[in-house]
Amino acid sequence: MAVFKLDNVEDLYEIGNVLGSGHFGQVREVRERATGVLWAGKFLKLKKGAGSRLGLERKNVEKEVEILQSLQNQNIMAIRDVFESRAEVVLIVELIKGGELFDFIAEKENLTETEAIEFMKQILEGVSYMHKKNVGHFDLKPENIMLSDKLAPNPDIKIIDFGMAHRFIQGEEYKSLGGTPQYIAPEIINFEPLGTAADMWSIGVITYILLSGLSPFQGDTDEETLRNIVAMNYEFEPHHFSQTSNMAKDFILKLLVKDQSERMTADECLIHPWIKPLNRTQIAKRNRSSINMKNFKKFNARRKWKMSFNMVSACNRFCRLQLLCKARGPEQQELRDCESDQEDTGTKPASLLRRRLSSNS
Ligand code: ATP
Repeated sequence: MAVFKLDNVEDLYEIGNVLGSGHFGQVREVRERATGVLWAGKFLKLKKGAGSRLGLERKNVEKEVEILQSLQNQNIMAIRDVFESRAEVVLIVELIKGGELFDFIAEKENLTETEAIEFMKQILEGVSYMHKKNVGHFDLKPENIMLSDKLAPNPDIKIIDFGMAHRFIQGEEYKSLGGTPQYIAPEIINFEPLGTAADMWSIGVITYILLSGLSPFQGDTDEETLRNIVAMNYEFEPHHFSQTSNMAKDFILKLLVKDQSERMTADECLIHPWIKPLNRTQIAKRNRSSINMKNFKKFNARRKWKMSFNMVSACNRFCRLQLLCKARGPEQQELRDCESDQEDTGTKPASLLRRRLSSNS
């Protein structure tokens, strides 16, 4: 078992504002007392006992930490230190000041494909690096792609949240049902053995959205979205892709491929002509094509609204549970944990929906 530092994190770091929240805790700005340097502290709540399913299992935190510690790349969030108390683990990580890439883009008036590709290239470089280290991220989505500093002339992409990441061991068969419906690969929904190719599917979805402001498989419900993915039910609607180059469409077509072994790898993406043009004509085509900014802004506004709605719903559920527990008294603690579990299944929509899909079909 990995041993994290047992010091009280607050003796060494002054805890500041909340930067963001996840399913298992908050991320806050922290200032190192000895040097005054700013970092981010990811506070992760641990499960209280073996029967409790509220909070994270320590072994899952260990996995996230081990993976982050093994990855040193300009486009991947760096980890500095880890502290542990009875109830939580605190990851001290690089402070990423520039917010989410999609928010940065949505503030612009317009963006050519050439400009968008500069960001795509960095995402691919980070992903290529982790895949060479046999790590799959398994939760690539706009919320997990941030910018080092949006005021910098050429901000760095930073990939965050390795909570679902996995390091492949040779010969191992790995299956997982986690993920966010819009971005997950068909093999995840079908509960097939996974590889790093699942991340490449997510990059295909992210690119599709970036260029058109449409989500390729989005249905009215999560269940419909998953059905669309499995059925490969997507197209390039001419109205939304009128400003898109054929090279960009070809790039997406080679990522949204059902057969994992036929999907482009990150290294193959980096030499695809859309990313690395072979001649002047291809360069000119990228410069003339642009992202559908009007629709992209709409997509991003809806996405942000949904994120806030989910956060408020989660808080409401939590408050209702607290009230229920108070009314029942302390002897009902285990019951509370079980009910929290039920609420918590929402954090793994893919697993929940796969169960629904298989029972319906
Ligand atoms: P999830 O429940 O989605 O898996 P999580 O608990 O693993 O989330 P993260 O996704 O790592 O948490 O972080 C939650 C949010 O905190 C992010 O969406 C982002 O807004 C913010 N955040 C995370 N890491 C940093 C960082 N290093 N610097 C600045 N903000 C950060």
